[in-house]
Amino acid sequence: MDHFSNQSKSAALPGAATPRLADWRANAADGLVFIALGSNLGDRAANIRGALHELERAGVARLIQCSRLVETDAVGGPADQPRYLNGVARLATSLDPHELLIALLRVEQLFGRVRDERNAPRTLDLDLLLYGSLRLTSTRLTLPHPRMWDRDFVMTPLAEVCDAAWLETVRTAAPAREQKEPVDVR
Ligand code: ADP
Ligand code: MG
Repeated sequence: MDHFSNQSKSAALPGAATPRLADWRANAADGLVFIALGSNLGDRAANIRGALHELERAGVARLIQCSRLVETDAVGGPADQPRYLNGVARLATSLDPHELLIALLRVEQLFGRVRDERNAPRTLDLDLLLYGSLRLTSTRLTLPHPRMWDRDFVMTPLAEVCDAAWLETVRTAAPAREQKEPVDVR
């Protein structure tokens, strides 16, 4: 559908060797960071493609793989919004989760994101879905992204770029794991 779709800059999905859950820092460096990509204003594909290029250009993350971009109806927000283009990118990064979130918000702004009412149309939405196996709740960031599991427009493209067995292990990991790793919560 889009020439940027499904490109892979490294080996294929972990596949046979499902990545281990334990070390979320190593997970991130190894390319188990997943972000949701969305746009329903302007040149939607160009916004998403440009955002991924900017993340690489600025040294925020390395793009491992991007799903196909799928067109979906807007969920919530004002009636008669334009349809979304959605996808999921798999990244490797050495930034910590909060640094990565700040970088994603900066790129949203660079592409003209205006924050007004909730679920309003936007040129670009970059949500941090998974930072390896990390579970985290801070004032600015919740991981895994709390609404991702119920959103087809996230889970369908995510399935293209994420090992299913690993994802299931992350989804079902006991919340008790949450505080085991020292996390810098700002
Ligand atoms: P949404 O994407 O749900 O429409 P926004 O893009 O406006 O909402 O994000 C609002 C805020 O949600 C962000 O400024 C950020 O601090 C917070 N947030 C909490 N967890 C996450 C996450 N996992 N990914 C992205 N933003 C998050
Ligand atoms: Mg968002």
